Amino acid sequence: MREWLECMGGVQLGGIITDQSVPMAKAIQQVLPNSRHRLCVWHILSKVPRKLLAMKKVGEVHEKMKDVVWIELIRSFKLEGNEWLNSLWEERSRWVPAYVKDTFWAGMSTTQRVESIHHFFKGFMNAKTSLREFFHKYTRAIEFRANAEKAATANDDRRKTKIKSTLMEVQTVCLALIYVLPGTKVQLSETVAEYTLIECIQVGDPIRHVTRGLKVTVDMEKLEFNCSCRMFEHKGILCRHCIQAMEMTNIPLFRRSMF
Ligand SMILES: [Zn+2]
Repeated sequence: MREWLECMGGVQLGGIITDQSVPMAKAIQQVLPNSRHRLCVWHILSKVPRKLLAMKKVGEVHEKMKDVVWIELIRSFKLEGNEWLNSLWEERSRWVPAYVKDTFWAGMSTTQRVESIHHFFKGFMNAKTSLREFFHKYTRAIEFRANAEKAATANDDRRKTKIKSTLMEVQTVCLALIYVLPGTKVQLSETVAEYTLIECIQVGDPIRHVTRGLKVTVDMEKLEFNCSCRMFEHKGILCRHCIQAMEMTNIPLFRRSMF
């Protein structure tokens, strides 16, 4: 890892996602102390059946962990003594979305991208591939990928018009299913205000309404918007709650500068 850091000109990563490998965690702590280390949620969930093998309701636990209120989960399934779950709780700041969403992860919560690259290269080489063969096979793999990308781009160009109309249809449907209602405003200081918004989403069949409250803090002096959903920090995409707050603040100049 030290060699890798040197190759990167000594620039540490903003964030790194790994499985629960203990040696990796130690190495990251020593070599990349300023990087945010996060655990892959897919790896955690995939371990549930093995780690809770003795439980009859393991499938139910697995489902609940995807949308978890931890204490409720532990109490309802009487899992207080489970060592693996206790260690996950100790490491919650490294994998529970509420703890990690203030850092930019390009929307990723798993190591899926690197797993996909591993899978791709395994189709061309394996652990027994010699160094001489490696260069030849690596070139073939890169050529294969470049050609696949070219074909995908050509395909996209052909379907452009169709995709545009489909997206517009999706947008029209979503407008009726997801909406943010303007809520209350509290003036925190002369220039900073906090808006409480109510988001409504219609999901499922039969349709049920899910609502949640969000807070957007607006600094009129710095022209800064901060939403409690942290979508901008996590994914780099401006959330609908900030856009609603912009409507409420009525600053056309700011809106022009954003878009
Ligand atoms: Zn938001």
